[in-house]
Amino acid sequence: MRSLPARQAATLIMAATSDLQVPVVEDGIRYWTDQPASVDGVLGGYGTGSLPRVDALGSRLFLLHLYPELCTVPSALKPLEPQTVSQPIRALDVGAGVGRVTSDVLLHLVNDVCLLEPVTPFIQEALQNARKSAAVTSSTPTRGGHAIHWPGLADLTKSVTFLQGTLQVFDPTHPLVSLDSSSSVTFLDRIGSRPNPGDPLSDIDSRFDVIWCQWCLGHLSDSDLVAFLKRSHAALRNQGMDGHSGKSLIVVKENVCSDAEDGGPRTVFDEQDSSFTRSDMAWKAAFREAGLRLVKEQVQEGLPDGLYVVKMYAMK
Ligand code: SAH
Repeated sequence: MRSLPARQAATLIMAATSDLQVPVVEDGIRYWTDQPASVDGVLGGYGTGSLPRVDALGSRLFLLHLYPELCTVPSALKPLEPQTVSQPIRALDVGAGVGRVTSDVLLHLVNDVCLLEPVTPFIQEALQNARKSAAVTSSTPTRGGHAIHWPGLADLTKSVTFLQGTLQVFDPTHPLVSLDSSSSVTFLDRIGSRPNPGDPLSDIDSRFDVIWCQWCLGHLSDSDLVAFLKRSHAALRNQGMDGHSGKSLIVVKENVCSDAEDGGPRTVFDEQDSSFTRSDMAWKAAFREAGLRLVKEQVQEGLPDGLYVVKMYAMK
């Protein structure tokens, strides 16, 4: 989906599966390649108002509610517990655009992020901003004080690994092994800390504590979506004894259209960017089919009027 299309922009509402148009990977990439490589570009023109801050704050609180160990701010009521986890917390940000979710949400809460994005200008913009943040020293003058800040890269306490490729061929368990020989997943760089200074990829197959999918899953057909969610579930580090009760999470934050009149699932095809917008029931049907357990769902409040409802779902 254009990440934040106004509600009236949806073009085709399909009833029968037989004539359902499906997202075409190349058409989606062509659409995004023509958009500005900026926060405003990935947010469909909503990047300069309150939306980015409201969205990021909502995301951090949602994640902290489920994963309170990620909190780095001591509270008067509950002092910070010493980190009991031995392994650094690792997150995956897919369809990451210019790295907005990584820099504004994930790097504030986790140690390492793997970022996947197919569109060259977007991932290059992300990479450039991460490199700038990594190069900032306490004596670097800030002009006007405004810069996109990627926490933890300059002091080497955190890291971001940049991978270019599409979700359709991406397997989070083995990020560099493409599922289709005609379309690769390419490692571009790792900025910040490295467990093994000589090898930026030493932990590449070490799976994830959090897999964050925001405003990009509309580019997947239903079967690709279910397959990707299954691969993501298999790539969670801590799944618990039954595969569903551990700490690790998949978070989906996406636009939601209304369900069908009979209360069933509904999917709307957007021709402009070749993507689906799914209703609440359609998302839940996909989660169920992928064998995921929904543990929390919440509407993102505080977004401008006229947009689709945006929902966050957490699954194990
Ligand atoms: N998640 C980011 C970007 C949202 S814009 C954010 O919230 O800021 C939608 C993103 O989906 C774009 O970066 C676009 O390039 C990406 N995208 C489009 N088709 C994709 C595909 N097939 N696989 C992975 N990402 C895709």
